[in-house]
Amino acid sequence: MDLKRTLNKWGELLGNPDWYSAVVSDIEDIRKEYNDKGEAEQNGVKNGIYDFFERHIRANDIALDEYPPDADAERKPIDTIVIHHTSNPPGMSRERLSAIELVRLYAPEFAAPKRAEDAGMKGRPIYSGHFREGRQVFWPYHWFVRGDGTVERLLEDDEIGWQAGSWDVNCRSAAICFDGNFENARPLDVELAAAARIIKEHYPQVAHERILGHREVNPKTTCPSNLFLSSAHHRGWKNDLLLLLK
Ligand SMILES: [Zn+2]
Repeated sequence: MDLKRTLNKWGELLGNPDWYSAVVSDIEDIRKEYNDKGEAEQNGVKNGIYDFFERHIRANDIALDEYPPDADAERKPIDTIVIHHTSNPPGMSRERLSAIELVRLYAPEFAAPKRAEDAGMKGRPIYSGHFREGRQVFWPYHWFVRGDGTVERLLEDDEIGWQAGSWDVNCRSAAICFDGNFENARPLDVELAAAARIIKEHYPQVAHERILGHREVNPKTTCPSNLFLSSAHHRGWKNDLLLLLK
């Protein structure tokens, strides 16, 4: 597979309402081809794809459904918090987050909807229904915690984020994402304090047992960290977060 040629082909398709059908199947092929390659090569092709979509998100030339149905009709009162990390280098822009999730979450779901009630999405232009300054964003999270402890609001609380790997949990949760790769690391104290502040200020109603790592909702992922949960040998940083809420 020649990535440059593939991206050129996608560039020609992006104006079509169902541009994502070809993209999703091409990415499936690329994934198979790179399955047994080294991490550097895998990251190279992944970043090439994300760069391409970030560029086109910024250029606003991807065909989307401009008059989408209400995507948040099933929103429920928030009784759960889900913690994530980006698993990418820190400093991710909002446009890149949007690009990544458009490709990673929305495109495959529209190409092959998992829920029977979403069958009508197949083949129609993609939408999130979440508009910012007239453009749709594909953020899965409600909050970003930056490395210096500043927090950024992404989705509003009445918007459903596609983040937990469970539609029920998506409908009733707010998602907080640490901006960085914490696969084998603990966020700094200032980052944990910022997350605790978000929970205290915005979600005092959530019981502490309902503050969950993504991996506790969806066992297929290690997000937000291999060090999130406690083990016999070490105290996980979930514990540190909960202590800050006391
Ligand atoms: Zn996650």
